[in-house]
Amino acid sequence: MRCAAVILSGGAGRRMGTRTPKQYIDLEGKPVLYYSLKTFSDMDFIDELIIVAADEYIDKVQKEIVDLYGFYKVSAVIPGGKERYHSVARGLERISGGTDYAFIHDGARPFVSSYTIERCLHYVKKYRAAVAAVKSKDTIKLADDDNMVKTTPDRAHVWQVQTPQVFEYLLIRDAYRRLLDDEDRLRDAGISVTDDTMVAKMYADVDARLVESTYDNIKITTPEDIEYAKMVIKLRNKKS
Ligand code: C5P
Repeated sequence: MRCAAVILSGGAGRRMGTRTPKQYIDLEGKPVLYYSLKTFSDMDFIDELIIVAADEYIDKVQKEIVDLYGFYKVSAVIPGGKERYHSVARGLERISGGTDYAFIHDGARPFVSSYTIERCLHYVKKYRAAVAAVKSKDTIKLADDDNMVKTTPDRAHVWQVQTPQVFEYLLIRDAYRRLLDDEDRLRDAGISVTDDTMVAKMYADVDARLVESTYDNIKITTPEDIEYAKMVIKLRNKKS
């Protein structure tokens, strides 16, 4: 069995309001991106890592993260695309032939646990697609364009999806190829592609299995997330 992971680091991080994109912000001496790379690198069954980064950060990622920390499983640091799904598609195309399962992970989620990664592998073998998620603690409302509440989904069935999102490799690679061929139609229809399980459903008709993850597997997005992340690391350092 061969597994690869695409670690996404190609975003601009506009919501953070800092010059440095969120995945490179310093967290207790190491960039945000370091933490998930370390967790994936340390998993025995992960054979290859592809990092997708914005053009101007490729050199920096290679030298200041991959080389500096000796992440030898990283086979390529490649340029991303305009939207997240462009970056994913490029990463998937770069994975070595003969790979069975592809993990897709947001580099902006430093606290993914090895247990969650293992559970995702367990479920992808059975269901072909699996995604880390947590049950929504809040009640979720679906609203119309005027912010009027329309429906209240039953909270027992509402999950917030995270990453990793994990798939049979050829299934997701081919689904992404179809998505790129279909891009104009999606744009005209106003459909935005915000996660990978959507792509597996739309272009391979495969339903993903939700894998219960942890609430600390946050995506660092706004400045308060950095403060929270620092706290998580301090607590972890205390425990170890
Ligand atoms: O912007 P968003 O929060 O959706 O980003 C999720 C992940 O996707 C981040 O790790 C970000 O770096 C990555 N991304 C990317 N290429 C883009 C946009 C986002 O690799 N064009």
